[in-house]
Amino acid sequence: MNLTTLFGSRVFGDAAMQKYLPLPIYESLKNTNRLGKPLDPKIADTVAQGMKEWALSLGATHYSHWFLPLSNMSAGKHDSFIDLCSDGTVVTSFSSSALVQGEPDASSFPSGGLRATFEARGYTAWDPTSPAFVKDRTLYIPTAFYSYTGEALDTKTPLLRSMQALNPQALRILHRLGIDDAQFVSATVGAEQEYFLIDRKLADERLDLKLCGRTLIGAKPPKGQQLDDYYCGRIRLRIAAFMHDLDEQLWSYGVSSKTKHNEAAPAQHELAPIFETVNIACDHNLLTMEVLRETAKRHGITCLLHEKPFAGINGSGKHNNYSISTDTGINFLSPGKNPEKNHLFLLSVCAIIDSVDNYADLLRLSAITPGNEHRLGGGEAPPDIISMFLGEKLTQMLHDVAQGISGASMDKGVLNTGVAILPHLAKDDSDRNRTSPFAFTGNKFEFRMLGSSQSIGLCNTVLNTAVADAFSRFADRLERCPDEKLEEEIVGIVFDTLKEHGRIIYNGNNYSQDWRDEAARRGLPILTNSPDTIDTLCLEKNVELFEKYKIFTAKECQARKEIMHEYFCKVLLIEADTLLHMIKRQVFPAGLSYLQEVSRDLAPLSSLGLKSGQTHAESLAVLVDKVFERCALLENVLTDVHAAIAMNGQSAVSVPYKVRDSLVPAMASLREACDALEVIMPSSRWPMPTYTDLLLDD
Ligand code: ADP
Ligand code: MG
Repeated sequence: MNLTTLFGSRVFGDAAMQKYLPLPIYESLKNTNRLGKPLDPKIADTVAQGMKEWALSLGATHYSHWFLPLSNMSAGKHDSFIDLCSDGTVVTSFSSSALVQGEPDASSFPSGGLRATFEARGYTAWDPTSPAFVKDRTLYIPTAFYSYTGEALDTKTPLLRSMQALNPQALRILHRLGIDDAQFVSATVGAEQEYFLIDRKLADERLDLKLCGRTLIGAKPPKGQQLDDYYCGRIRLRIAAFMHDLDEQLWSYGVSSKTKHNEAAPAQHELAPIFETVNIACDHNLLTMEVLRETAKRHGITCLLHEKPFAGINGSGKHNNYSISTDTGINFLSPGKNPEKNHLFLLSVCAIIDSVDNYADLLRLSAITPGNEHRLGGGEAPPDIISMFLGEKLTQMLHDVAQGISGASMDKGVLNTGVAILPHLAKDDSDRNRTSPFAFTGNKFEFRMLGSSQSIGLCNTVLNTAVADAFSRFADRLERCPDEKLEEEIVGIVFDTLKEHGRIIYNGNNYSQDWRDEAARRGLPILTNSPDTIDTLCLEKNVELFEKYKIFTAKECQARKEIMHEYFCKVLLIEADTLLHMIKRQVFPAGLSYLQEVSRDLAPLSSLGLKSGQTHAESLAVLVDKVFERCALLENVLTDVHAAIAMNGQSAVSVPYKVRDSLVPAMASLREACDALEVIMPSSRWPMPTYTDLLLDD
């Protein structure tokens, strides 16, 4: 199949809809997709028939409502298309109600107390704006998931609600600026995805990789990424074959995989798609993560999406490239030739500055995973302090506009390479700043804090809602002022934004201690760990924002806070248990038996006058003992945490601070002893593959 035919061949997209739906039905569905119009319920039956015929033609036997509960994994049950006739034969059937609504048991998914076990009813609702697709002989229908009482239990519902909040406010701005032909505005997103690929046989030999997706112990290999010889380096043949297969799968599902390359760490890679409407980008990123894992498996590889699979080596993130666009293709963040006169651009940049400063804590919150905790602030990814990089030129230009100075220019320069035969290159408006969590990159902002395993749902929900709020306040001002004062009012908005929110702009090195000190002086939130960050969700100003735009009720905020605390605790408890298993059943016995062997051989060595044997045995003994002692300490802490959970009616919600303050340090201290032991043990006696085995397999 050639590339253009392959692309989207397993998606109920434009071509399939045209072929399988009558023209008026196709057009009505298109309007829902393109203009965010409500779905006409009368067309659902015909759409269901068309979708079924199309799915059957691709060999599908089942359909599934595909949704993303708050456990971060996609879910869905599978129903076959068969229906029994009275004579015992079967026909295929797929009714409109089966397309539009599903009823999974909501009590088996995280609900933060919104659903008790005995209140099981939950619903899935078809999201007609995200195309259905056929995978593994199942028709997947993207859906939103909510409870019997209407609370959202997933990441899609709030994202769709936030799109609904942004659209009218953005349209108000456009209309006030005289840009009247747009009917629908939404955020556009391109999510770059980093991941590790490890030989599957080796990965399977380690309990931590199997159960936690990251190594809990492991000494640093002598060669990691010191030579900077991996980033964009030659792609190994085995990996190239995997990537080729991956791309073909993704293309067939309509995921526009565009760029692939090796990343900074050994065995680390990246994939970037072409940007698209935010809720589709979100579903596509989830699908990408699933296909990454499955394709890797077929190639005898394990794909790790954890944020920090290996200590001491760069972890994996996800970059959320964000802009806002009309259905007619106007990008709000495109500076154009005269950005200082481009009112839409100025207002949009100001709206984003306003949003990021007002809701820095929520953005930080949206980047929370237990794994990302190991990555942020480590000098390999943005720090845990939110700030924005605009670049010197744009920053200066905004200040000039605010002061009424004309002539501020963002003209692109030309790069002279000094070599006559090379073409002169057009320079970008600003250099890159890889250390910034939120950087302007020409015609979009790139939020770089997200962890590789995360859904991009929450961060875009926060961005859409905060920008909707800023646009709404700006639109109030612009609508109040007469036409002849419009320009002056826009200058006023730029002025006020810089005055009130200029503190969030920082163009320097975000990794430096100077910045931490400066950020503290500026009063920016410095949220260094998950439990503290999670608590900010229920701050009054945050709940107010979400309630105002009908994204979350106060009850939903509280529930999500509980779910996040609980998730953080549960993951760490699993990690601690896994670590203890590995130490007690593998590391300690291996260390002890080797120590016994060395000790047995000591006497003849000493009689030869050799001291090295004795010294070696002593070092070993110290470390084996240390491992033993620290293992006992961790067990005590774990018992303590479990007791606290039991006291609280088996809920882990109550213990995040205990986990942070005692469990995490106890695990780190045990790891330290274990890693020290690893490097003085013979490799043949170490009971699992080492970092060198895992990472440098060529
Ligand atoms: P990088 O700047 O990180 O090196 P690119 O410039 O190729 O990489 O873009 C990164 C991502 O940004 C891609 O997924 C791309 O499609 C996306 N992107 C480009 N323009 C926009 C836009 N207007 N809105 C959202 N995402 C965009
Ligand atoms: Mg990037």
